[in-house]
Amino acid sequence: MSSKQDRHVVIIGGGIIGLCSAYYALQRGMRVTVWERGGEKGDNCSLGNAGMVVPSHFIPLAAPGMLAKGLRWMFHPQSPFYVKPRLSPALMRWGWLFYQHANSRHVDSCKQLLLDLNLQSRALFAELAKDSAFDLQQRGLLMLCNTQHGLDEEAAVATMAHELGARAEVLDAAATARMDPSITMNVKGSVWFPDDCHLNPQAFSTAMKERIRAAGGEIRYDTELETIEQAQGRVVAIHHRGQRHEVDQLLIAGGSWSSEILRQLGIHLPLQAGKGYSLTLTNPQQLPQLCSIFCEAKVAITPMNGTLRFAGTMEVGDLSLKINPQRVKGIIRSIQPYFPAFSEQDFAHITPWAGLRPVSPDGMPYMGRAPRLENVLVATGHAMMGLSLAPITGKIMADLLAEANPGFAMERLAVDRF
Ligand SMILES: Cc1cc2nc3c(=O)[nH]c(=O)nc-3n(C[C@H](O)[C@H](O)[C@H](O)COP(=O)(O)OP(=O)(O)OC[C@H]3O[C@@H](n4cnc5c(N)ncnc54)[C@H](O)[C@@H]3O)c2cc1C
Repeated sequence: MSSKQDRHVVIIGGGIIGLCSAYYALQRGMRVTVWERGGEKGDNCSLGNAGMVVPSHFIPLAAPGMLAKGLRWMFHPQSPFYVKPRLSPALMRWGWLFYQHANSRHVDSCKQLLLDLNLQSRALFAELAKDSAFDLQQRGLLMLCNTQHGLDEEAAVATMAHELGARAEVLDAAATARMDPSITMNVKGSVWFPDDCHLNPQAFSTAMKERIRAAGGEIRYDTELETIEQAQGRVVAIHHRGQRHEVDQLLIAGGSWSSEILRQLGIHLPLQAGKGYSLTLTNPQQLPQLCSIFCEAKVAITPMNGTLRFAGTMEVGDLSLKINPQRVKGIIRSIQPYFPAFSEQDFAHITPWAGLRPVSPDGMPYMGRAPRLENVLVATGHAMMGLSLAPITGKIMADLLAEANPGFAMERLAVDRF
């Protein structure tokens, strides 16, 4: 029998969750292979996102008010949130679970854990950035509000942040303008979260691949996990194009496709794909120095190496990456009311990018062992925080692979919690 350290771990999914898990498992001395069905230059949700590292996001998606807002937004083709109605038992179960968790009791039970995970992840980013070719911009995040109601809501989040021991500052319009003089803003005010950061997610992904290879890990592209072979409560082998590969430990980090993979093992993980879009201006009219979020419009804005990325929309639906031009228009139309220097014309020749966030119904990621199978782990469901939580997720998965205690309230993240 091999020791815990020299076991062969196969990770399914070369998104940022799979890559970070691979890196930290290698740090623990394990033998690691990543299987990614796309090509080395392929795309996934981890590459075109807004690149924000967000300790400020300690409120899970399933929160009070989300149902009412969601229902209102459902009937506006350019709104930031939409659930594509379809006769799917999995979607109905997901919706029912979301409904059951969208309350303040749930938020209270999750907020400290989400903050702690995000803060520890941020610290890992800072460590990784010291000798990597990705640039971590540690300048904070501005939550920009152009209505008094929006500012009041965000100020309440700042109060909650203080209660949890996090830093947040409510700013009026003049103080907001002083925070970032390189951009003209039309806002009532903002909340500044100084511990948030931003980076270029593509550069971070490349840096993690380099680290994995330097540590002796292997990333196999164009390698899709097709079938899984089980015997006596364990996965013994996985198959690709008729070839059988034995595994000691299997980690499923397949993003929005994780539930499809787990179904082969008889596990019905509540997970939906939440499609979002980003648009990147290579030569923007103005280039802010800080990343920000338009609170009312739910659009994220991130400067990345001289370019400017706008990202938004959550279309809960199937696994299609088809672009809905109305939702993209919704993002573009939301910009000028906050950043008046920009116009719709600026986006005339920009090709939108689309990505599928893996969304759990209670807004908490899944990190843990799969039920009934002793050698299968799952890391997915991070929704809007997958980049931000990637390093800490990787570290937790490495702990679990080594049968060490990660030191968090793992029951709230358990794969079989519903
Ligand atoms: C518009 C937008 C903006 C966002 N902004 C932010 C942000 O600012 N900060 C933040 O923290 N998060 C953000 N997110 C969310 C974040 O991008 C995701 O949570 C994260 O990328 C999910 O990573 P992942 O590795 O789980 O999934 P993915 O990146 O989707 O990777 C999963 C991989 O698994 C592979 N795979 C699937 N099935 C198989 C199989 N059978 N065999 C082999 N490989 C397989 C897929 O090809 C894919 O490459 C944003 C998302 C969107 C859409």
